[in-house]
Amino acid sequence: MDREDLIRELIERVAGEVGLIIYTLHPKREFTDEELSVELGTEINDVRRALFYLYEVGLADYRRRRDDETGWMEYYWQIRYDREDEILKKELLKTKKKLQEKLKTEESNIYYLCVNGCIKVNYEEAMDLGFTCPRCGAPLEYFDTSSVLEKLREEIKRIDELILSIDRTKGKTKKVA
Ligand SMILES: [Zn+2]
Repeated sequence: MDREDLIRELIERVAGEVGLIIYTLHPKREFTDEELSVELGTEINDVRRALFYLYEVGLADYRRRRDDETGWMEYYWQIRYDREDEILKKELLKTKKKLQEKLKTEESNIYYLCVNGCIKVNYEEAMDLGFTCPRCGAPLEYFDTSSVLEKLREEIKRIDELILSIDRTKGKTKKVA
C-alpha cells in the first residue's frame, strides 16, 4: 500500500464515498456546499455531512460569510491538502500503537490449542485442564505464535517505513519551495 492508497482509505473511512469524491475533485478555490452539490449532482445534505467529517479530522476548513442579498449565512469550504501528511502520519501512529499493544500481549502469552480446534487457552488454564480439551478430550498442544509475531513486527516495520517516506517527501517539498 502506498501513500495515495492510504489517503484514499482514510478518507473513505471517515467521510464515505461522497467525501472521497470531493477530495479527489481537487477544487482550486473555496466553494460553498450548494455549488458542490450542483457540480456533483449529489444531495446537499450528503455533501454537508461529508464536508463535516473531513473537517473533523482536519482535512477541510470553512469560513462563514453573510450573503449581502439574501442575508443568509454561507459556508465557504476549502480542502486542506496541505495537512494531508500530518493527518496521515497521525493515523499511522495510531495504528502502530495498536499493533504494538497487540504484539506485547501476544509476546507475553503462551497459548495452548486443542488439536481439534475447540479452544485456545493460556498456559495456566491449560495446566488446570491437565492439557486436555474439556470439550472433546483431545490433548492441548503448544501453539506456536512465532508466525503471528513476525507478521505483527512486519506490519509495524511497514508503518515505520511509510512514516519515514512521508517525512522524506515533506523535506523535499520544503527544499523546492
Ligand atoms: Zn477439543
